[in-house]
Amino acid sequence: MNNLGKTKIFKGVQVSPGIAIGRVKIFLPGRFDAPKRHILNSEVEAEKERFKDAVSQVEAGLKALLNDIPQELKEHAAIFTAHLMMLRDNMIYDETLRIIETQKINAEWALSKVLDKIKNAFCKIKDDFIRERFSDVEGVIKRVYIGLHGIGKDDEKPLSTPSIIVANDLSPSDTIQFNPNIILGFVTEKGSRTSHTAIVARSLGIPAIVGVKGILKEVTDGDTIIVDGLCGEVLTTEDKVIIESYKEKQRDFRQYSSDIINTSHLPAITSDGIKVTIKANIEMVEETPTVLSYGAEGIGLLRTEFLYLSKKGLPEEEELFDTYIKIVKGVYPNPVTIRTLDIGGDKFVSSMPFCEEMNPALGLRAIRLCLKEPGLFKTQLRAILRASAYGNVRILFPLISGKTEIVKAKQAIDEVKEELLTQGMPFDEAIKIGIMIEVPTAVMMADALAKEVDFFSIGTNDLIQYSLAIDRVNERVAHLYEPLHPAIIRMLKQVIKAGHKADIEVGVCGEMAGEPIYIPVLIGLEVDELSMNAIMVPRIKKMIRGVSQSLCKGLVDDILQETTAISIRKRLIEFLRDNCPDEFSPEKGLYCELSTRVLM
Ligand code: PEP
Ligand code: MG
Repeated sequence: MNNLGKTKIFKGVQVSPGIAIGRVKIFLPGRFDAPKRHILNSEVEAEKERFKDAVSQVEAGLKALLNDIPQELKEHAAIFTAHLMMLRDNMIYDETLRIIETQKINAEWALSKVLDKIKNAFCKIKDDFIRERFSDVEGVIKRVYIGLHGIGKDDEKPLSTPSIIVANDLSPSDTIQFNPNIILGFVTEKGSRTSHTAIVARSLGIPAIVGVKGILKEVTDGDTIIVDGLCGEVLTTEDKVIIESYKEKQRDFRQYSSDIINTSHLPAITSDGIKVTIKANIEMVEETPTVLSYGAEGIGLLRTEFLYLSKKGLPEEEELFDTYIKIVKGVYPNPVTIRTLDIGGDKFVSSMPFCEEMNPALGLRAIRLCLKEPGLFKTQLRAILRASAYGNVRILFPLISGKTEIVKAKQAIDEVKEELLTQGMPFDEAIKIGIMIEVPTAVMMADALAKEVDFFSIGTNDLIQYSLAIDRVNERVAHLYEPLHPAIIRMLKQVIKAGHKADIEVGVCGEMAGEPIYIPVLIGLEVDELSMNAIMVPRIKKMIRGVSQSLCKGLVDDILQETTAISIRKRLIEFLRDNCPDEFSPEKGLYCELSTRVLM
């Protein structure tokens, strides 16, 4: 942190470009760390009363909330009614009082013991429907905990004034519950460039900075802050001159972004005539119109987790199908690559695999979870296949580590096709099937895997995480996350070569594909398709039009000789300065973004 008079500057990782200036709203979501205190016999009654008061307070709050709930949120009212009922349930109410009394501990600690006990019991239950109820129990206990502290009462109300959200961390489900129209920016103490919160912020076009250590201690609700999503800085200031200078920077960046959008319809053809297909990554049906308006040629990655994250319980086939056909029809005749469910890891779904894992990134995630839960998997496959009758659909399997998983996943598709045929339901019988390359073993086996599928899509976010052993959501190792590690460049080359040898297309859909600095490398590696946040499409297309593939190939030949990321970066900076001066223009507000990232 830097101190300039009363203005303080905090450094973080810029994850979504743009400048936001506005008032802080602190968000205190999620888990709680219960303070643990033994109490005296003489304190037991008072502690029990404190707990009972908190429950009554939560009860009153929930009743008021139910009365005031806005029309558009009425469908969620059932959750609050369920919470009201659970508040007085023996399992929570009586048990907490009993633990306070018998174990002589404070109410928060007793409450956390109750939560652990319930969690263990729920973990053993096979029935999905009953297991899903755990998230309700957790929600109720969290409310009481907040009630005990008298904090965060406002967090239950939908935000009504434009604000910059400042939080310790935001899960994907926290992020999507905000109304994007009144969120000016996101700042979190945790997280990294490829965490899903960052991805969501980017897709909403909201400036965001993560990994800003200590910010929560420095700001309170209503403070003015500036989020510089180009330089990765957060400023706390009331200084009018500084605020004015950032307003100017904000205007410049908006102007630059709107100028570039005017060219978004032009194809991405390099100066020596090589066409690269540019598609968009989306997560929500609401983003569909942005795909075409930003000039993307379809959807290269439809992350399908959000229907599972945004509500209690698992979505039904019909709901999935309705959503998919809206998207498929929305971009028709352009193609949509629908990735099957990739929950687990940092995409945690309270209604499914809530049993905590020591290493969720290495746990029951993505295709592994789907193969273990055939009911869940086939419901989604049915919806995808049925939607394929309405447009141009491809299926993509995430986190494939070897051929056996592909064989099993394809078998599930065959079984679902059989069912649909018997039921007379239409689908695209020749639907293309691809896999994400994001585990090092898939890289090593790319030649064999290429024979099994119709296309590869390289998920660099996870490939880098798993190759460099860098947790993509851990801000403490974010500085070690290195797309330009020589091993990563070699891996990309190996996969693209193997794919082309088998005559299949190879795309990149990780965040690397949407970052201008990496474009010459990816073009030089002869990638066929890049898929990115829609907002980045116009800029990346413009950049591709400005470079020649043969020069980029020369760059790649050079960097393949290098043995450290630092020397690769140096070489890349030279290339960018010589060949992409536009992208390094300080006037356009981009210099800072590019130079800090490249030079760090
Ligand atoms: C990736 O890992 O690069 C990717 C695109 O998938 P996700 O970010 O959803 O894990
Ligand atoms: Mg991934």
